[in-house]
Amino acid sequence: MTFHQHRAVIRSLGCKVNQCDAEATASELRAAGCVILDDSDATSLDESPADLCIVYTCSVTAEGDRKSRQMIRHLIREHPNALMVVAGCYAEVRPDDLRTIDGVDMVVGTSDAAQLLPQIYAALDIMEPDGEKSCSEDSCRRTRAFVKIQDGCDQFCSYCQIPLTRGTPHSRDTGTILKEVRGFVEHGHLEVVLCGIRLGAFGMDRGDPNALAELLRQLDTIEGLVRYRLSSIEPNDFGEPLLKALPELKKLAPHFHIPLQSGSDTVLQRMNRRYTAQDYQSLIKRLQSLIPNLAVSTDVLVGFPGETEEEARETEVFVEKMLFSKVHLFPFSPRPGTVAADLKPRISAADVRCRKRRLEGVTLAGAIQFRKRFVGSTLQVLIEGKELVASETGKMFRTGFSENYLRVAIPTSCEQPLRAGEVYDTVIERLDRNMLLKTQTSEDVLSSSEERFEKVGTAQESTGAGLLIGNVPIASNR
Ligand code: SF4
Repeated sequence: MTFHQHRAVIRSLGCKVNQCDAEATASELRAAGCVILDDSDATSLDESPADLCIVYTCSVTAEGDRKSRQMIRHLIREHPNALMVVAGCYAEVRPDDLRTIDGVDMVVGTSDAAQLLPQIYAALDIMEPDGEKSCSEDSCRRTRAFVKIQDGCDQFCSYCQIPLTRGTPHSRDTGTILKEVRGFVEHGHLEVVLCGIRLGAFGMDRGDPNALAELLRQLDTIEGLVRYRLSSIEPNDFGEPLLKALPELKKLAPHFHIPLQSGSDTVLQRMNRRYTAQDYQSLIKRLQSLIPNLAVSTDVLVGFPGETEEEARETEVFVEKMLFSKVHLFPFSPRPGTVAADLKPRISAADVRCRKRRLEGVTLAGAIQFRKRFVGSTLQVLIEGKELVASETGKMFRTGFSENYLRVAIPTSCEQPLRAGEVYDTVIERLDRNMLLKTQTSEDVLSSSEERFEKVGTAQESTGAGLLIGNVPIASNR
């Protein structure tokens, strides 16, 4: 009898919930005896390609749709004999679009997610593993672990089809989440990221408005866990129980991603966002008073239907004064089935491009100003990714994220190696032109196609070199 070990490639696009779902599937498949190929394996294994490909698609924008189709076609070309399975939000809302792609074998939407693995097991004759598998033991390859605590949303923002694709909010059991986090810590993770479509709705479906605050308090007590962060949280979801808990929480990372979408009240109203720009600003002020060195990043939707030049300027002015650490700018794209898909007038592509360019300038200036505050400070950097070589001097660097989610580059050497997955107390010396906080006194520019630095055009920033006191490992997963 021959034993065939299945080889799977799993890709996810879009939000961290997709990433988490993909990792959970990888974990299940590994437990069932499959090999999960990582990026380098998947592209270099011409002689032994995958026999299973799964793509967790995103449909949040038309661009998400396009990238999903591109990824599917790419994998079909790379692994022509694989079972091609398409999951995620695009598979939920327009399965027929995807079924027409030549080479797609199975389309399983989010509402049928429980059927995904049984269908794969049946198609490939894989024996189902015993016992419950948690979200991504496989993510041991990573330094941060992602833990899904919630799915679904019922807010019906007028541009968003997520309530149509993922249903009403449903929360995972607190005990199961804590067990999963402890498992990650035992596997060496120092940081976990709590993911959900609407994190602030955690526990609401059980009628428990204190559930999120209580979960965070419990996480704070987990020995070996250095820090945890929230992937994204809506402004309306900072209820009193959560606000009251924040000052007590020692391990909660001081960074929140709080979607703004527009700085214009009239646009916010048409978006059905249920807050004003003033509400948003007051919330940030309150959070800053509760959490020192808090970084706030956000999303802004550019060119919402009917957005006048005056409304676009209101957003620019608002964003300028907020000093966000990072702003993700999304051009509006109509999503079928949403209220905004029928709103008129549509903003021309040229106007959207122009407004986006203006916002890029404003957000860059704010992000630089925010980062400057940390030159001379000590940040706790969790090292991630591979070593990088500075193009001019050949010196080695590693990069990682600070507790407030700023990317930092630190020199490494054989004598003083930095290891991925460890946290180092790091004195920041300067800010480079890529908004990278650095501890190196040279003017090196990192060169690596592996790292996706935030390229920020022609901005030139140098704060001058300070004293490198040293990188002191304060926590290790080894
Ligand atoms: S809060 Fe609004 S934008 Fe966010 S998932 Fe729900 S409907 Fe979509």
